[in-house]
Amino acid sequence: MKLSKSILLIIFCICFFCTKIIAQNFENIKRYKVNYAMATHANEQLISIRSFSANNQKYLLLVNPETLDTKVDLASNYTTSSLQFQNVLAIFKNTAYIKSIEAAAAKDLQLQNAGIDHAIPNEKGITLTIDLCPSHKALDRIIFQSVFDEFKKTEQPAPLAVSVSGKWMLKHQDDLNWLKSLVQKKELDITWVNHTYNHEVNKLPLAENFLLAPGTNLDVEVLENEKLMLKNGLTPSIFFRFPGLVSDKAIVEKIEAYGLIPVGSDAWLAKGQQPNAGSIVLIHGNGNEEIGVKDFIQLLKTKQADVKSKQWLLFDLRQGLEKEFE
Ligand SMILES: [Zn+2]
Repeated sequence: MKLSKSILLIIFCICFFCTKIIAQNFENIKRYKVNYAMATHANEQLISIRSFSANNQKYLLLVNPETLDTKVDLASNYTTSSLQFQNVLAIFKNTAYIKSIEAAAAKDLQLQNAGIDHAIPNEKGITLTIDLCPSHKALDRIIFQSVFDEFKKTEQPAPLAVSVSGKWMLKHQDDLNWLKSLVQKKELDITWVNHTYNHEVNKLPLAENFLLAPGTNLDVEVLENEKLMLKNGLTPSIFFRFPGLVSDKAIVEKIEAYGLIPVGSDAWLAKGQQPNAGSIVLIHGNGNEEIGVKDFIQLLKTKQADVKSKQWLLFDLRQGLEKEFE
């Protein structure tokens, strides 16, 4: 009798654990769509940017317009009132979220590197962004390991942003799980950035390449990638990285209409661009950019003493913009 009770308890625990996993890794997402609403709960006023259903429940993807944090929560926990994107821009115009969208829009004319490319002016340190474009090669785990090793005494978890493409996630489940384990162990604090589902690249000039290629379906690139992120237990942030950092004015506007902030870089290491104070540094961690990874490891080495004395920090993309626009 005793034995069967403990077996029952074990089964109960396993089931509970499974439901928890399912609750975090949204398997069967339905009716995933852009859905703007003001969402209030007690004293908290958030902006809903997406809604979907899963496990017979309705969920919202919510943004805190001051901290730029996102979370997924049950819709039933909030009182909501629907908004058009133009209303969101107007009502929340004094928040870090809308100021960031506007700052990104102000730089939308160039063909490469539109959006925010410098997070905090004149701060001692950088914001690190690592792109995971589709690749047959393994993740450069050394980047993440080195960040943890260097910063564990001064910043733990160390903040960084990882831009994920759908096709990378589909092929690199082990590497993705390894990254998630670093977050779980509180070694790193990862902001997950949408880097499109397909991340197409062709041989045409930039004006017809990447997302500007004819026939691009933005709903697939943006929303299907978010769904895949949710399925993998990643909470999409409000940041978006253009493949190849290539965009034009029209597409920047369309991406912003999804409620997303394009993030560029003023220090793409593999292109020889040197980071300054407050730079948004870009390296590729998908096995295809040996030089960038080498340069970054070298950069960490030269900054070792500064890191120890907290004269060189890693900044969280969200906190950087919050600080800039507070
Ligand atoms: Zn890419």
